[in-house]
Parts: sequence; C-alpha cells; structure tokens
Amino acid sequence: MQKIKNYINGELVEPISKSYLDNVNPSTGEVYSQIPDSDKEDVEIAVQSAKAAFKSWSETSITDRAKVMNRIADLIDKNHEKLAMAESVDNGKPLKLAKKVDIPRAAANMRFYATGIEHFASESHQPNTEYINYTTRTPIGVAGCISPWNLPLYLFTWKIAPAIAAGNTVVAKPSEITPMTAFLFSELCIEAGLPAGVLNIVHGLGAKAGQAIIEHKDVPVISFTGGTSTGKSIAATAAPMFKKLSLELGGKNPNVIFADCDFDKAVKTSVTSSFANQGQICLCGSRIMVERSIYEKFVSAFVKEVKNLKVADPLTDEAKVGAVVSEPHMNKVMSYIELAKKEGGEVLIGGSRINVDGRCENGYFIAPTVITNLSHDCRTNQEEIFGPVVTIMPFDTEEEVIEFANSTAYGLAATIWTENLKRAHRVAHNIKSGIIWVNCWLVRDLRTPFGGMKQSGVGREGGWEALRFFTEPKNICIALK
Ligand code: NDP
Repeated sequence: MQKIKNYINGELVEPISKSYLDNVNPSTGEVYSQIPDSDKEDVEIAVQSAKAAFKSWSETSITDRAKVMNRIADLIDKNHEKLAMAESVDNGKPLKLAKKVDIPRAAANMRFYATGIEHFASESHQPNTEYINYTTRTPIGVAGCISPWNLPLYLFTWKIAPAIAAGNTVVAKPSEITPMTAFLFSELCIEAGLPAGVLNIVHGLGAKAGQAIIEHKDVPVISFTGGTSTGKSIAATAAPMFKKLSLELGGKNPNVIFADCDFDKAVKTSVTSSFANQGQICLCGSRIMVERSIYEKFVSAFVKEVKNLKVADPLTDEAKVGAVVSEPHMNKVMSYIELAKKEGGEVLIGGSRINVDGRCENGYFIAPTVITNLSHDCRTNQEEIFGPVVTIMPFDTEEEVIEFANSTAYGLAATIWTENLKRAHRVAHNIKSGIIWVNCWLVRDLRTPFGGMKQSGVGREGGWEALRFFTEPKNICIALK
C-alpha cells in the first residue's frame, strides 16, 4: 500500500514516530494509502527548515521566484491526468470535475502569483515639499498554511502561491482526509527545483500537526481555510501570540430568485450552485429563496432538473454527482436531513443514501436532496450542512428576502437573480456577504477580494489582498529639507 511522505527541507521523509493513518477512498470505502500521523516533532523540523530557508528565499529576486513557480505550474499541467485521478479517488468528486476545475486552477494559482509578484508595488505619499513617505512591503517569515478537503490541491496552492511569491517560506498541512495531491505536489516542487525548505508539507491530524503549526512561536502568519468552529479555536490560540491571521470559514449562502429573472438560466445555474462537488463548495447556494409568484413553477422546474443529476462512480463519464468525502461526513449530512424532517421539512427529492453498484457498492453516496416547507430561522436553514442538500423557501418582498438572506451567522457568498438593474444593485448592496454574484455563479477572477463577513471569516484572499496579507508594510518618512 502506498505510503505518503512528509516534504521537509526539500526531501520526502517519514514521520519521526513512524506512525501512519489510513486514507480511505470515499467512493469504495476502502483504505487505499497511508499518511504520516505527524506530530510536534515533525512540525518542529519543518519550521526550522523553513526558518533556515527564509533568508535566501526572501532575498531571491522576484523574477527567480516567479521562474520556479512557473515551472511548478508547467509540471502541474504536464501531470494533469494523474493529479485529476488522484483528486477524484481521494475526494470522491467526479473525475471530470477534477480535470476541468481543480487541477487547472492549481496551476493557475501558481502562475497568477508568479506573475502577480512581478507587478506588485507599494505606495509613496508626499504631504508637501518637506517630507516624503514610502512604504516597503517585506515578507514576514514562516507562514502556516492549513487547508480543507473539499477542493484539496486548488485551495492548498491558493495559499502557498502568494505566500512564497511574496518571499515567505511555508509550513503547510493539507486535510488529513485528502492528502494525496499535496503529496504529488511535493514531488513536483522537487522536480521543479524549488529550493529546500521554501515549502514544507506536514501531513496528519488537525488537532495534532495542525495545532502544532498554529502554536509554533516561529510561525507569525497563519492562513487557514476550514470550518468556523476550527477557525474559532485557531483564533483563540493565535490571537494572544499576535499572529497575523487570515480565516476563510464556513457559509450558508442565500440564492435569491426574483420573479423577473431569466427563469431557465436561474433554474439551471441554481442546480449547479446547489450540487456541484456534492454541495461541498463553501460557495454553494444552500438556501434558495424564490419570489412567491413563481415559487411553484420554480420548485417543479428545479426538481425536474435535479432528477437528471446522475449519482455514479466518479471515475465514469456519466457521474454528475460523486461520493461525499468520508463516512463521518456522510453521517453528518444524513443527520441534517433527519433534522430537516423533524423541523417539518418536506423532502421533494433525494433524502437518502444511494447504492452505486459494482466497485462503489460501499461508497458514501447521497442523493441530491431538495427540501421545502422550512422557515428561514430553523436550524436546517441556519447551520452549514456542506453536502448535496438544498432548501427552497418563498418570499414576498425585497425587504423580507434581504432579512432572510442576512439571518444566519455567516456571510460568505450570495447569488441574486433579477433582470431589474436597480434591484440587483440594491439587494447586492444590502446583503452582508463578501462575494455576490448577479445572474451568474462561481465566476472567478483571481484578482478580486475573496472571503467572507461575520462568521465566514476574517480578511480576504485573492489578488493584491493576499500579497498584502503575506507581507509586512513599513512606512519610512524622510525629511527632504
Ligand atoms: P476543518 O475546519 O475540519 O479542517 C480544515 C483544516 O484544518 C484541515 O486541514 C484540518 O485537519 C485542520 N485542523 C483541524 N483542527 C485544527 C486545529 N486545531 N489546528 C490547526 N488545524 C486544524 O474543515 P473541513 O476540512 O471539514 O472543511 C470544510 C469546511 O471548510 C467547511 O466549513 C467549508 O465551508 C470551509 N471552507 C471554506 C472556504 C472559504 O473560502 N471560506 C473554502 C472551502 C471550505 P484535519 O483534516 O486533519 O482535521
């Protein structure tokens, strides 16, 4: 059985304890590889290696940093098929999706920040002829980057790329549930000639390896994507140590459909925004709100479309929906469906686990589930489920739907469907969320600020925001006379 290794100081190494954890293929329920159960000692060596590499990497010219990052991107492209297959097997997502989205985006992240750093500039301010200020932006040191399982290599590289482009070195931990592409990525970094210690990847459990990174006194900057409760505990550890923190957390995103929308497009895109990646994208719209005059029509058109979503072996071409990521996660999602029923919800389609015959008979598949008849403030409509489950509720007025949309603790993303330009602006302005799509969904421009309000996070990723996050500004004021 394949044993994944840590990537420390430019080499692939075993965990010091020699302990390993099982890695399960969620489509089959079988253990298919093992990953290091790393602990404090492994993190210590990784941090020391990153510290040692910091001096020369932070002094490496931006052009040379960009060159090696572009080489890594080229190698991701060259290994596209292999990485996509690994992602699908590790995560349960349709292979087609991994090929189309996850792996190309990982390469794009590396290229985007390789190019970005060459265009990044800092400001100067001159209040009068007597003084001039200029601001430098220097790398901070060793960055801790911790990422989740839903878009494994995509989100892992989304953190690592700006961190190393800006001249930091990194100790990173991918999710223990989906470690494989991060391991393959470490092989590509070696092949590309990334200097030893610039990136260190420590595999293992969040509570052990992850926590050791967060607590480490020599890791002054932490970029974390994951659940809100984990984010809370990370903030509690990091804040008293005055670490710089970027937290990209959970969501409960509203998808608001007005009667004047482009109906067919709204239905079709809403099916995708509800169930893409088995609903396991932080940006999925999990609460659909439909203006009452088209509510019945929308619900029946939506359910009709959902019937066409084929749940199947993720490696086959027909699979529109694959397995959810793990057995505990499947149980969590199923428990929310039960909760919805107890709260009076009506399951219009789905609501159960699905048996996929053949090699996937023990896999963790859940039928795309549509639930109506729930109030906006019940637990099902307030808590993040993060699976193939969506609720639909009617609304009467613009004011009411804004209240529904803003009624959760989250504020990550929202989608609005209307052909009324003024209304689109008004509602977008009033929904408290970091990202709003109008008449579209998941259109990403890597230059835009990415992140959430309220309990969906602190700070923003993307574009200059990430390069600013991974650098320390220093203002220098000079008297000219
Ligand atoms: P978790 O919070 O469980 O885990 C995220 C990462 O943190 C994993 O690598 C995990 O390791 C690690 N971790 C867990 N505990 C600690 C700790 N005490 N210290 C340091 N690291 C720790 O999230 P999930 O992996 O379950 O991901 C799903 C969540 O991510 C959802 O809530 C989703 O909304 C959110 N998300 C947010 C996005 C955004 O941009 N806002 C984007 C994508 C997802 P391990 O796997 O070993 O537990």
